[in-house]
Amino acid sequence: MRFDVMTLFPEMIDGIVSYSIIGRAQEKGIIEIHSHNIRDYSEDKHRRVDDTPCGGGMGMLMSIPPIDRCHDAVKKAGGQGRCRTVYMSPQGRVFNQKIAKELSEYDRLIILCGHYEGVDRRAVEMLCDDEISVGDYVLTGGELAACVLIDSVSRLIKGVLSDEECHEKESFSDGLLEYPQYTRPIEYKGRRVPEVLLSGNHRKIEEWRRETAYQLTEKNRPDLLK
Ligand code: SAM
Repeated sequence: MRFDVMTLFPEMIDGIVSYSIIGRAQEKGIIEIHSHNIRDYSEDKHRRVDDTPCGGGMGMLMSIPPIDRCHDAVKKAGGQGRCRTVYMSPQGRVFNQKIAKELSEYDRLIILCGHYEGVDRRAVEMLCDDEISVGDYVLTGGELAACVLIDSVSRLIKGVLSDEECHEKESFSDGLLEYPQYTRPIEYKGRRVPEVLLSGNHRKIEEWRRETAYQLTEKNRPDLLK
């Protein structure tokens, strides 16, 4: 799968995605992540990419021409396959594991990151197929949100996680949060790992995990049980 991120701060993307599992997946050639500086597509002599909002108001908006040229170049560079362009936006549908799964079916994702007050609405309407928010709060820019999307989509792609890191039993995969997990030391500051996990009785361990996953979901995310 190929990700292309259109941004004013490509270093933010490159830095975050070069580590750990996502970094290794790129080294193995399972995924490709390319960042593109929208400023390189400005035709302004000062490389400006923003302007004041029509009708007045605070702040600056990213204008459409550099975004459009960047999008054109990125589309041509990436080759064929099922492609979707996504604008990271607090006004989008709220991201979750189901949407991550849906996006993991594409061959390519082109991601537009806004900055300042956001982007000219025509860029969303003319160039993007989807608008995705990482939650009901406002970030300074779309870069951190894009990295959240890339990370969560990538780990659903075959070969990115090893068998031990398998995502199939993780939180949200079956509608519940994951059960509590423990490792050594068996006792820490007087607090022991639950005895059932040390019993070697796999049926009892499974039952305990199902029960505690349910309890944790009921306590922290009752909305998931509805
Ligand atoms: N003026 C916009 C509004 O009130 O909806 C907020 C713009 S925000 C300061 C700048 C950029 O950050 C947005 O264009 C978007 O790309 C990104 N962003 C901010 N919050 C986000 C969120 N919750 N999810 C995804 N992207 C977000």
